Amino acid sequence: MEISKVTKSVKAFGTEAADAHLKSLTIQRRNAAAYDIEIEILYCGVCHSDLHTARNEWHGSVYPVVPGHEIVGRVTRVGDRVTKFKAGDLAAVGCMVDSCRECEHCKEGLEQYCIPGFTGTYNDPDKHLGTRTYGGYSESIVVDEHFVLRVPGNLDLAATAPLLCAGITTYSPLKHWNVGPGKRVGVVGIGGLGHMAIKLAKAMGAHVVAFTTSESKFEEAKRLGADETVLSKDPEQMKKYAGSLHFIIDAVSAQHDMNAYLRLLKVDGTIALVGAPEHSLPVHAFSVIPGRKSLAGSMIGGIAETQEMLDFCAEHNIVSDIELITMDQINEAYERMLKGDVRYRFVIDIASLKNATGA
Ligand code: NAP
Ligand code: ZN
Ligand code: ZN
Repeated sequence: MEISKVTKSVKAFGTEAADAHLKSLTIQRRNAAAYDIEIEILYCGVCHSDLHTARNEWHGSVYPVVPGHEIVGRVTRVGDRVTKFKAGDLAAVGCMVDSCRECEHCKEGLEQYCIPGFTGTYNDPDKHLGTRTYGGYSESIVVDEHFVLRVPGNLDLAATAPLLCAGITTYSPLKHWNVGPGKRVGVVGIGGLGHMAIKLAKAMGAHVVAFTTSESKFEEAKRLGADETVLSKDPEQMKKYAGSLHFIIDAVSAQHDMNAYLRLLKVDGTIALVGAPEHSLPVHAFSVIPGRKSLAGSMIGGIAETQEMLDFCAEHNIVSDIELITMDQINEAYERMLKGDVRYRFVIDIASLKNATGA
């Protein structure tokens, strides 16, 4: 791909080191080429992956890091070959901005499993500029139309942003493992991803059991749609659910005991890990051998499936429960996220970036 020479300076928020706070930065965005869409960003959700990357917890961060992959905005310009969007339309961008488009997975709409690797919305090599990709904590972004999603008109815009990662990351495994009526589904870790998993699994018709370490979320999980809630640090409560679930989605961001959850599966049951803690999670052989249990993983979702998820949410009137913050509140929001103190997703009002300094 040709390296683009024409760029525009854009204000962003990011970090220059793993132990530094996020602050105001200037980045370059390419001019919209033939298939590109330029989007003025209105809202950007705050995913725990943003924090893992900003602090180099997955050991691949190249600084500066400008996080943000739950982006909703308005199209300001389109390239002359673009057919899906026009200036003025609402548009959204999730975790991917490119992939090879030729491998078997790209061809079947599984761009997230692209064999040479997809281009992440942030902290990946930028094929156009030769730098890194920078995410949605910024005024605008330029993305190929294939990776831009249509935003349903009936949903609150700020609360739609988290669907672009938290929504699709939970929707995709719920669909893949055929969650629906007659299925008993566990959701572990009621944060950004977990609270979306509860809403989506319920809308798909499953019986949903929420597992939380936070007593304060015990009743709230029912409001989100859980049929039952379990305080996972109480062994007596956990014992009652042994062998009772067909499927579990595990959205915990930190160390926890997987064996305790494998015990809760029925024969042939599956746990899909979507949470990505910094360190390995030990699993005993005898947690999976009796009962022919599976421990699986799942990564975000393909572009067509992301659109399907947005349309499903529009039909079922599902959005994220959010706390709208200003750009200057991002460092405090990260600290609160680490304490599990978020109901249930921070979303940045990008209009506030204009005057933000991070000081
Ligand atoms: P989040 O909002 O911070 O939620 C994580 C939840 O995990 C917390 O609310 C808490 O739930 C639970 N938790 C936190 N620390 C814990 C501990 N020490 N022990 C037990 N439970 C704990 O994070 P998120 O944005 O939903 O992301 C969750 C994870 O998914 C992150 O690791 C993120 O990087 C990963 N992720 C993966 C993908 C993918 O494609 N697979 C996509 C996006 C994000 P309770 O208070 O209910 O216990
Ligand atoms: Zn994410
Ligand atoms: Zn590919």
